[in-house]
Amino acid sequence: MLTIVRIHNELLGTYGDRGNADVLAFRAHLNGIAAEVIDISYLETLPKSADIYLMGGAEDAAQALSLSALQNGGALASAISQGATLLAICAGFQIIGESFTDGLGQEIRGLGLLNVRTTPGEQRFVGDIKVKASFLDCEFTGFENHGGRTILGEGVQPFGNVLVGHGNGAESVDGAISENVFGTYLHGPVLARNPEFADFLLAKTTGQSTINYVDDLAVEYARWRRSVTK
Ligand code: GLN
Repeated sequence: MLTIVRIHNELLGTYGDRGNADVLAFRAHLNGIAAEVIDISYLETLPKSADIYLMGGAEDAAQALSLSALQNGGALASAISQGATLLAICAGFQIIGESFTDGLGQEIRGLGLLNVRTTPGEQRFVGDIKVKASFLDCEFTGFENHGGRTILGEGVQPFGNVLVGHGNGAESVDGAISENVFGTYLHGPVLARNPEFADFLLAKTTGQSTINYVDDLAVEYARWRRSVTK
């Protein structure tokens, strides 16, 4: 059974990224893989033994609260070191970095799972975004809505090169990746907009090369989105 944990949706659910879990479970089933989605609130203990962990975007206060809950116990770091996959969107991406600035202007130490740092920008980036993925021969579309600017440190690669929109707001790249940890500014939800990415994460997590169910409607929709995002 593939276990997908949706982390703190009551805090990190502002931008609808909860759909990433549903897309993964749906596409796992299409490929004959039994999957379950478990919601873990910030009042509960995060399990260490799940296969995929997901975090979404949030407003600043909710983001800080989610971080403080995740600092207890180190479950996420432990799961990742044992090979679990983590996909973190926007506020989630900032939380798993080295540091970000909270709504009161204070620099906060993040979980340190990705070597990135986020600081406030002068204006908020809101709108469509398209990137060329760094790990798949594919363009991904999404929607961004954030005030933070993110700088990559050593040991991480960008999630993608920005073709339309802003992403990290520096060096024309979006997000960051290190092994099984993926951070990006793409809402959408990103896995609903880009089924290739969902299948990539399923293949990487399960080690199965048989993630090959062709979902024609999803592919057609993703292509159309790419063609109109300019
Ligand atoms: N609060 C963060 C920012 O504005 C993240 C926003 C989001 O998750 N969409 O940068």
